[in-house]
Amino acid sequence: MPSHVVIVGGSMGGLRAAEQLIANKFDGVVTIVGDEKHMPYNRPPLSKDVLAAERDDQNSTLDHWHSSVAFRQRKSIADVRWRLGSPAVSSDLGAKTVTLADGEVLNYDGLVVATGLRPRRLDLPGPQSGRHVIRTLDDAIGLRAELHPGTRVIVVGGGFIGCETAATARKLGCEVHIVEPMAVPMIRPLGEEFGNALRRVHEASGVHIHTGLSVEAVVAAAEDTSRLSAVILTDGTRLGADVLVESVGSHPNVEWLDGNGLDLGNGVLCDNHMRVESRPEVVAVGDIARFPDPATGNIPRRIEHWCIPTDTAKRAAATLIAHLSDEPCPDVPFSPLPSFWSDQFGLRLQGYGSPGDADHISVLEGDLSAPVDQDPSALDGTVVGYYQGSRLVGVVMLSPSPVTARNYREAVETSRAAVLTS
Ligand SMILES: Cc1cc2nc3c(=O)[nH]c(=O)nc-3n(C[C@H](O)[C@H](O)[C@H](O)COP(=O)(O)OP(=O)(O)OC[C@H]3O[C@@H](n4cnc5c(N)ncnc54)[C@H](O)[C@@H]3O)c2cc1C
Repeated sequence: MPSHVVIVGGSMGGLRAAEQLIANKFDGVVTIVGDEKHMPYNRPPLSKDVLAAERDDQNSTLDHWHSSVAFRQRKSIADVRWRLGSPAVSSDLGAKTVTLADGEVLNYDGLVVATGLRPRRLDLPGPQSGRHVIRTLDDAIGLRAELHPGTRVIVVGGGFIGCETAATARKLGCEVHIVEPMAVPMIRPLGEEFGNALRRVHEASGVHIHTGLSVEAVVAAAEDTSRLSAVILTDGTRLGADVLVESVGSHPNVEWLDGNGLDLGNGVLCDNHMRVESRPEVVAVGDIARFPDPATGNIPRRIEHWCIPTDTAKRAAATLIAHLSDEPCPDVPFSPLPSFWSDQFGLRLQGYGSPGDADHISVLEGDLSAPVDQDPSALDGTVVGYYQGSRLVGVVMLSPSPVTARNYREAVETSRAAVLTS
């Protein structure tokens, strides 16, 4: 089966796809195309360690930061060809070609779509300087350079990344406001009760939270009109601001696939083998892949968790190799367990399953109303179960012990397995 697989997207999903192809005895050529100039690196530390780190002349170079978050390069992928710093701009899936921004056209026998997401921006005219998103290493370094004691930081969007960024900025001594359009921060993944417990942690640590509101306008500084000096909220409140972090969701990077008749409505629609509709030689992995999971009702959805690029890369590589070798695909359902975490004010939030699917919760250990004014660790050991009827669909824990985390992970896996076998 000597042939050429092109992987578009040079981050975790792309890297794992290459590793899995080679681990599955693919002996053709693998090319990875990435629009970032960096070799693949880990994103979770961007809103945690990279933002929080002390900076000085020695440790603030891009190379230093990249080496602190880069994935280890396994020997197995030494022969992979890297085409970094030049994005794919179009593709012709009928002719099996991908065109890069520098004009090169790559022919492929197999194609892996791994282009992930980019942050959504607030559609607000006016000063742009001081406005940030956080998706790439360059974003994190640019934001970190502006965070000093006393810097006035507005974070729009109280999801995991927004709340982590707010917690880190607060620890650096910034004056921090979160502006969240929903009634409670992190309500979508955690629900109202848990989200409110974490709201109390943030507020006890000095973060100001404005819910049910968004930012309506940004105001320019008198002395430098390219720089923001305040934001106006939708209820008319004016907040002084040096930095605005826009953490309001993301767009899948699908434009390079336009014109091929694919369903690109919310990422790339795949089947349970990670195959892109009617294209057996094209698979998708990671944040961009919208695939059905039999444990959650077979409705295709994207999952934006760190574990998913690896899980989907394993599945996609097996699918692609089967196709290239003219063999049938493995006949077992694919149902990766979502697993996620977040670090905020010394609390480690650890979750398994799909808590967002629940219709009610039950506090299984600890107490979500524990007083956190003096110490957020009062919530340590709390475990919340998320249920659809009587079925456990997810668990979220705060700073669990390894044994607790393992036990509840198994409980969620068992509950999901029961759906698969019913
Ligand atoms: C700040 C931050 C913190 C996070 N924290 C956590 C956490 O604590 N826990 C957790 O479970 N998950 C976390 N995540 C999510 C996790 O990092 C992602 O799920 C994971 O990075 C997805 O990997 P991916 O390869 O699918 O996509 P990405 O990492 O987005 O990679 C896609 C790559 O493709 C490139 N690309 C895009 N378009 C093109 C093109 N046309 N041509 C070539 N290349 C292209 C992009 O530049 C990018 O390098 C976090 C994410 C972020 C951003």
